Amino acid sequence: MHMKKALLLFSMTIVSVCTMAQKTIIHCGQLIDVKNQTVLKEMTIITDGATITEVKKGYSLAAAGEQLIDLKKLTVMPGLIDMHVHMESETGPANYLNGFTWNPGDYAFQSAVFAERTLMSGFTTVRDLGGSGVNISLRNAINKGWVKGPRVYTAGKSLASTGGHADPTNNYRKDLMGDPGPKEGVVNSVEDAAKAVRQRYKEGSDLIKITATGGVLSMAKDGSGAQFTVEEVKAIVETARDYGFKVTAHAHGAEGMKRAVLGGVNSIEHGSYMSEEVMDLMKERGTYLVPTIIAGKSSADSAKKPGYFPDMVRAKALVIGTYIQSTFAKAYKRGVKIAFGTDAGVYAHGKNWMEFVYMTEAGMPILEAIHAATVNAADLLGEERIGSIEKNKLADIIAVDGDPVKDVTSMGKVKFVMKNGVVYKDVK
Ligand SMILES: [Zn+2]
Repeated sequence: MHMKKALLLFSMTIVSVCTMAQKTIIHCGQLIDVKNQTVLKEMTIITDGATITEVKKGYSLAAAGEQLIDLKKLTVMPGLIDMHVHMESETGPANYLNGFTWNPGDYAFQSAVFAERTLMSGFTTVRDLGGSGVNISLRNAINKGWVKGPRVYTAGKSLASTGGHADPTNNYRKDLMGDPGPKEGVVNSVEDAAKAVRQRYKEGSDLIKITATGGVLSMAKDGSGAQFTVEEVKAIVETARDYGFKVTAHAHGAEGMKRAVLGGVNSIEHGSYMSEEVMDLMKERGTYLVPTIIAGKSSADSAKKPGYFPDMVRAKALVIGTYIQSTFAKAYKRGVKIAFGTDAGVYAHGKNWMEFVYMTEAGMPILEAIHAATVNAADLLGEERIGSIEKNKLADIIAVDGDPVKDVTSMGKVKFVMKNGVVYKDVK
């Protein structure tokens, strides 16, 4: 038995090594040139292992020993990037109780399911903006090949002030509430800020997420007020810089957003009540908005179901979420930089593509929305190897059925997924 297992493992290793080294010729009926926001017809992509080596006009022939993938009936584009997901959880009426009955192992196994679902829906890279630390283990497990999933950049535990959106013991009874501090991601001073960031570095985070205002799903009364001072944000951003971390801020209310932007964060998540003043500040400083329209709509819908959320959450979800789409439309028109993000987990994982529907509804052409989910997202991540199909980039390639320019719902019909040159979903 052991011998058999060992042999099987050995042959699997050989197979994957061969796949990695093999030259692959991909025929694309349509290929989205995300940088120029145009659609090219009859193109060939050549990959060698994990890297794209050539992009050519017409259909090149495959030589002996080369693998040919026929995507002539599909629209091909770079692997999509979702800049705001939570791989550890998914919305549901039992969520608040799960926090007391589930072990980290339960969250871990569940996150593996969500990771695979996300990858199969065409998202080859995600930014995980907050969890318990299982998100760090998930990233490692995916990198090791234990779990199928997108490339993960994770914040680990997000940072909040006491009673703030990401305080881990909000509304608990007193003996359970304790007094979480920077180690647990709770910051109440400039000194705390440095320690909280350094603790994230120690734990293996890739970036820092702060909750600059109240939020919808936390058990706290206020969903939009400012929760950090500019000095605290500055201290977080400065410490983060020492470790090469970017900082992003969850923010619904304008005052907290303004403080976060002035403090130097790289992006604002949600942006629900963003004022024109904040939009102009963001333009000036090159701060991105990551809209998450689907999360707002989905929470508002769930709040209408009796008993789905606790009353305290329900009141916020019914109101705040409904602002995101119109604010996104205004910010886009005013020229704020946009990176695609959905807050997956606040709605069902795998439906990330619906954000494209809402973005186009709000006035952004689909090719620009795809640009936000590839070129802009890679820019905000600071990752030059992904975000477009070009020579020397990583072979993250997907294909959808139909033409997204004519029908945005084709973004939900993903038929082919390649990440790092490995095919995870193949055309039938
Ligand atoms: Zn979120």
